[in-house]
Amino acid sequence: MPNRKNLFFFYKQTPELKEKIAHLRELAHNNGFQIVDEIKEANIIVSIGGDNAFLQALRKTNFKEDCVYVGVNIDQLGFYTDFMIHEVDKMLESMKSEQVEVRKYSTIEVTIDEETPYYCINECSIRSNVIKTLVIEVLIDDQHFETFRGDGMIVSTPTGSTAYNKSVRGAVVDPRLPSMQVSEIASINNNDYRTLGTSFLLSDDRKLRLQIVQDGNDHPIIGLDNEAMSIRHARQLEIKVSPRQIKVLKLKHNSFWEKVQRKFL
Ligand code: NAP
Ligand code: MN
Repeated sequence: MPNRKNLFFFYKQTPELKEKIAHLRELAHNNGFQIVDEIKEANIIVSIGGDNAFLQALRKTNFKEDCVYVGVNIDQLGFYTDFMIHEVDKMLESMKSEQVEVRKYSTIEVTIDEETPYYCINECSIRSNVIKTLVIEVLIDDQHFETFRGDGMIVSTPTGSTAYNKSVRGAVVDPRLPSMQVSEIASINNNDYRTLGTSFLLSDDRKLRLQIVQDGNDHPIIGLDNEAMSIRHARQLEIKVSPRQIKVLKLKHNSFWEKVQRKFL
């Protein structure tokens, strides 16, 4: 990455991290990188922390397409964090010697009530915020598919398939498959309500619409990765695979399936 030199550090301002960042800044500087304080000047964004820090870095910097994101972890490697904080010198070295590669991860685009779209790299989730069930009309390409009644639904990207989606028994999807997966959270299935009952994958040219049935018991909470949207009266979500892809720096010999094996097997 010889042409990328402007580095922005994204981290939680704790005293402990501040000290570590001071050291990182020095290392980066000594390796010919320039540390910038404005996101708009950056072409490399480094998140310090776990996958949660990485997800926040993306959201707070608005899923920038012209930047490379780098996840640096403090305790253990995660799904988006390929580097450890005590090995940052090695990381900077490998950035110069091309032992790293930039991988493009796909995102989904979520439009709530026809407003500005939001992006997610893990998933969009919609859940009832009260003890009553949520009723959702599910439409694929504007055609009614099923009526869901239960706790909620998750629409995940391939890289998000190992997160929330997996906890509800969704499939782990190879990130090379441009798609989104729809999974249920505790659906009621009886003679009045019937849903598919299994997760399903939609291709990148489909459009999914989730219409919240306004029955007075609808109190949805909408999750965009690890951020909750506080929208009181959302009526519908339109979700599709987005053309916006996020560039992520990763080690060459650390494939998605190696990570899956390391974390789960
Ligand atoms: P969290 O509740 O602290 O973490 C949930 C766990 O998921 C952490 O161990 C996190 O790793 C890990 N994780 C995040 N993205 C992942 C991915 N793509 N593949 C595998 N594991 C992943 O919240 P958080 O750290 O801010 O992460 C937010 C994510 O938590 C959401 O996007 C959602 O996927 C997931 N979540 C899961 C459940 C569930 O399984 N029941 C419920 C709500 C949310 P780190 O330790 O490296 O941060
Ligand atoms: Mn976490």
